[in-house]
Amino acid sequence: MGKTIRILLATIFFVAVSAEQYYLITVKVDSNNVQKVREHLETKGFDISGYNKETSRLEIITSTPRFLEKECSILQSRGMTFAIDEIISSESYNSYHAKREQAESYYGPEETLQELQQLEKTYPKWAKVFNLNEWLGLGNTVEGRSLYALQVSSNPDLLEDEAKIVIIGQHHARELMTHHAVLDSAKDYLQRAQQGEAKLLSAIENSAVWFVPVVNPDGLAYVFSNERMWRKNRTRNNDGSHGVDINRNYSFKWGACGSNSSSGSSQVFKGPSAQSEIETKVMDRLNAKLQAQYIISYHSSGDEVLYPYRCGFMAEANVYNDVRDRLARHIGFGKRFASSSGEDFEHHYGMYGSISFLLEIGSSFQPSFSTYRNRVWPNVQKVLPFMLDELAKPHVHIKVMDKNTGKPLAASLNMAEINFKEQEQRTADEHGSYRWRLVPGKYNLTIKMAKYKEQKIIIQAGQKSNYFVELEK
Ligand SMILES: [Zn+2]
Repeated sequence: MGKTIRILLATIFFVAVSAEQYYLITVKVDSNNVQKVREHLETKGFDISGYNKETSRLEIITSTPRFLEKECSILQSRGMTFAIDEIISSESYNSYHAKREQAESYYGPEETLQELQQLEKTYPKWAKVFNLNEWLGLGNTVEGRSLYALQVSSNPDLLEDEAKIVIIGQHHARELMTHHAVLDSAKDYLQRAQQGEAKLLSAIENSAVWFVPVVNPDGLAYVFSNERMWRKNRTRNNDGSHGVDINRNYSFKWGACGSNSSSGSSQVFKGPSAQSEIETKVMDRLNAKLQAQYIISYHSSGDEVLYPYRCGFMAEANVYNDVRDRLARHIGFGKRFASSSGEDFEHHYGMYGSISFLLEIGSSFQPSFSTYRNRVWPNVQKVLPFMLDELAKPHVHIKVMDKNTGKPLAASLNMAEINFKEQEQRTADEHGSYRWRLVPGKYNLTIKMAKYKEQKIIIQAGQKSNYFVELEK
């Protein structure tokens, strides 16, 4: 056998057995250049799993450490501090965690569901568990699981005509703090309301909060059974690889810019088509129904608030940025652009007008549970009360009905003064309602519905809040 062929075979064998071997690499970066380094690596397809701003270190998970070494020398030649600190293979990382399994307190998908059911049992007047796949008429995940939500509101088994918030966790399998952030937020809300905290009692009465702790149950199960560094779902791709990055798969501006890939083996594979995955379909259909005013989507790590429109024009940036800046200050987080388009929070804003933020919590992707509890949760705990305060601020409430029957109409709404350029949509919900946070002023609203005559009205935001619109056929 020729030498070249032997080397080739050895290479193929190495690639085949090490197909699922990952490396967690910690690099020291110059704090002034974190953004530049991050963007450079994301453009090269690297999966940055976390950022610790105190030590100025990035965590990168990759199956190709050699390529990272190459990028390391490129960045150094451009005068940036970029030094590899530590490389841990997933083999040693997994066996380390297998040994201390008893001490682990992070939940898998089953324990998370049990916790939701426990909350429903403890607070039956205020909390109700929904199997979202079933409720929304969609099939299960590839491994036969469902996504679950807890609605917290008065009459929690009904979808009432009231303002809404959605709190979401765990798009990325290995981000183990994020479903706890959602569960703990629900628990804290219910406990404090029970203890009589007036603001929270009034929020339960006048609004609904939907908690969806685990968007990626198959991936989460796989983290505990096989691979602690797993990120995507468990779809089998056409090229034989596994997993779509659910948070690159949403349809609004799918694949438009940032770190996403068309290659199945990539950590940021955007999927074969927009919203190809059952997990993204469920979350899209949920918010199509809820039309939430505010959404928080938890990821880890970085202690950062991420904002959308990395590319494209954001028409209502003044309203959005005001809430974003105050939220970041309130919890002591930094701010940066989203890594990519096709992420959930940009989708929910674009398609439904939900003012949505991605929060990267903590300073490493899998700290000990006590670090989550003592260092990360105290910041997370402030988020929902802040969002409830925002929800209580004036919103223009437009309600559209059929003039003859009084039936609510899911009409489409268009303000002449708000110049959308990315095919954003604003549509009334199944109650015919839409709640819009607007800068005070005068707006010309056009209301359209198939088979009905179009209608135009004037909105005086800041002066009058409720507008009833009756459409005629
Ligand atoms: Zn993430």
